[in-house]
Amino acid sequence: MTLYALERQVAISAVTRACALTSSVFNKLVKSETLTKEDKSPVTIADLSAQALINTILGTSFPDDPIVGEEDSSDLRGGGEAQRVMRERITELANDALTKPLSGEEKKEWGLGDAKSTSELLDAIDRGNHAGGNKGRMWAVDPIDGTKGFLRGEQYAVCLALLVNARVEVGVIGCPNLPLTSTALPSSALPPTERGAIFVAVRGQGAESRHLSNAWTSPGTQLRLFSPSGAGILGSGLRFLESVDSGHSAHDFNERVAKLLGVTNLPNRMDSQAKYCVLARGLEGEGNVYLRMPVKGKNYKEKIWDHASGNLLIHEAGGIVSDSYGRPLSFSDGRTFKETTGVVATGSKGIHEIVIQAIQKVIELEEAEAKDVTEKL
Ligand code: AMP
Ligand code: MG
Repeated sequence: MTLYALERQVAISAVTRACALTSSVFNKLVKSETLTKEDKSPVTIADLSAQALINTILGTSFPDDPIVGEEDSSDLRGGGEAQRVMRERITELANDALTKPLSGEEKKEWGLGDAKSTSELLDAIDRGNHAGGNKGRMWAVDPIDGTKGFLRGEQYAVCLALLVNARVEVGVIGCPNLPLTSTALPSSALPPTERGAIFVAVRGQGAESRHLSNAWTSPGTQLRLFSPSGAGILGSGLRFLESVDSGHSAHDFNERVAKLLGVTNLPNRMDSQAKYCVLARGLEGEGNVYLRMPVKGKNYKEKIWDHASGNLLIHEAGGIVSDSYGRPLSFSDGRTFKETTGVVATGSKGIHEIVIQAIQKVIELEEAEAKDVTEKL
């Protein structure tokens, strides 16, 4: 059997089922606005039930593997009425997703088919409490990356990665709202048949995208980024991908880098690791530089589950991911990055070098300006 074949299949199963779950929560609770106060936030409900589902599948399929997951069950465990209602909702959603008929390569032994008790599901959520580190196997789970995009009906992603000795070996990202052909249209304007993709990468075995609606049977598209020399694509050939939220990534910094590089296209802004997916897919004009520089004054450390799957996807599609100095991202420091600052992803070495140089130039300019201001005080 090919290396990581089982892990790949289980990850596809967990991600496709979690995507169906989050889409149904959006349709039932967000879009129709049937939300009552006791429901708490639909995003919390979707997040926690998706993590319960994914961790149940992982915990049954690979009982010895630790999981680093974004969520924990502390909000659910109290004796209050609100917690009771949330627990019920989450139990129902996770069990609906676990008991759907098997499709494709799915096996009952992965924890599929039988409903779980509420307490088993809460324990499954808390399997995600692992501290991370540089030894052995571990899974990184972000049940809903891009919660704000989820609530707006735009981009969000269900992200799952297997790390072995702090190196990502399998990465799967489900993007239920990603348009299949162009991100120029808002997802809400597209019928479900024209959106929803899953991206799958295994180290050394390439990267592919498939339609989410028939992830097991649709022919996968192999992702292979075209590698132009950096110089050939400068200026109008470049387009930045960046967060919608200016509190997550410094838009002003990106604008200065873009200006230095003569970029004329407006950035393509979207929430979540869908940015990595759009870059890996390599469609003309959709974006070929993902730049995420820290917002000043926040001292935020990036979380491993926000980058693990995307990191391998870009690598296997032939691109490069680094920090703002060109160093590989380090997944060995625990749940968060320690030394890594900034994330830069591009489709080729040539573009990457040029972008890193421009970033360094803007850092120098900002430092000189800050010095100027202090001297004048
Ligand atoms: P995005 O959708 O690309 O803006 O990123 C969403 C992710 O940003 C969330 O999953 C959070 O974990 C993460 N996040 C939260 N605060 C910050 C911050 N100050 N800087 C960078 N990322 C953040
Ligand atoms: Mg996230």
